[in-house]
Amino acid sequence: MKMKSVFLGIVLLFVLCVPFSFAGPHWTHEEQADWGGIEDPAQTEVPLMYPYAVCSIGDHQSPVDLAADNQTEKLNNLKIKYYPDEPVFFNTGHAVQVNTSLDYKGRLKVGKEVYPLIQFHFHEPSEHVVNQEVFPAELHFVHVRENGKIAVLGVLIREGAENATLQTILDNMPYAPEEENADTGIKIDPLSLLPQNRKDYYALAGSLTTPPCSEGVNWYVLAEPITVSESQLGQLKDYYSNNARDVQDLNGRSVSNKKMHNH
Ligand SMILES: [Zn+2]
Repeated sequence: MKMKSVFLGIVLLFVLCVPFSFAGPHWTHEEQADWGGIEDPAQTEVPLMYPYAVCSIGDHQSPVDLAADNQTEKLNNLKIKYYPDEPVFFNTGHAVQVNTSLDYKGRLKVGKEVYPLIQFHFHEPSEHVVNQEVFPAELHFVHVRENGKIAVLGVLIREGAENATLQTILDNMPYAPEEENADTGIKIDPLSLLPQNRKDYYALAGSLTTPPCSEGVNWYVLAEPITVSESQLGQLKDYYSNNARDVQDLNGRSVSNKKMHNH
């Protein structure tokens, strides 16, 4: 196994499992207002006692209203280099998630920075809103660089035509929390979960939207939504409903807006 794969494996474990498999205490979306105050019974001293404190005291938190304090800027093009993969279908206990294979080459390139795609997962309803409009769902492609830097590509989801790739994901997703379905031989092409327009996007410095709410996450949310069918939204809800964090204050940040097509 190549060093890169080993490293990504470790990052993967860390990023994906912190909320439930590592020492982190249990959390739910229902109690999101109190995430910052959740105590880790294994710790006795501040700040270790409050592993999710930044959820409450952080000032660069996600999600946000993407239309609030918007600035149209000359930003880098997003170079989304995804390829078909034979992934692991993972029910995290909080979301329907797809983990890319360890030797997966798919990546997001922003300027000179290259972020390997580690996993993608769904929220119902959306976490980001646009001018207070909540979308039926949202998809997050999570990329982690070898230095640990995280970039998330967000895709808003409307109700409309069915998405065949989402159906494959739903058909292979375990129902039991924290269970995975690996070695299925089934290929998924993440590109088929993206809209036609991959040029226009919102950019913001934010955070993970689930505990530990770590900041320093670069967010890129595509302006054009994709569609999934009413039935597929229902199937997503059968797994997790309301697994979305409330909109957070910008606290002086502005959302950058990349528009290529003069509209
Ligand atoms: Zn997410």
